[in-house]
Amino acid sequence: MYLLSLILFILGVLIIITKELKNNRGISVDLSDSYLYLIFGGGLIIFSIYIVYLGFKDKKDKKDKNKIHKIEFSKCPICKENFTYSELNNGKCKYCEEVDTIDMDEYYEKFPDKS
Ligand SMILES: [Zn+2]
Repeated sequence: MYLLSLILFILGVLIIITKELKNNRGISVDLSDSYLYLIFGGGLIIFSIYIVYLGFKDKKDKKDKNKIHKIEFSKCPICKENFTYSELNNGKCKYCEEVDTIDMDEYYEKFPDKS
């Protein structure tokens, strides 16, 4: 994905540079022609940046999804029952009275041996 955008980026830059070089040498001085090349090269550069942007956006979305998934579950330290947050009553276990459940992440940090 990033390799493709890099190739497109370099290609776009090359198109602009080589066209400019040609103009400097006086080989091609057709303005409308070079203008077209500029659009084509610039378009490739913008497109490659857009691909990278999409890649980052996709990564961020996945990260957010993981985050939501992680904090959704809570575990009771007494009966070891797992609950989703919507099942909890003020963060308390519904089987053991007045026992605070612990977030999954924190639970495994506190009791790494238990499952
Ligand atoms: Zn419990």
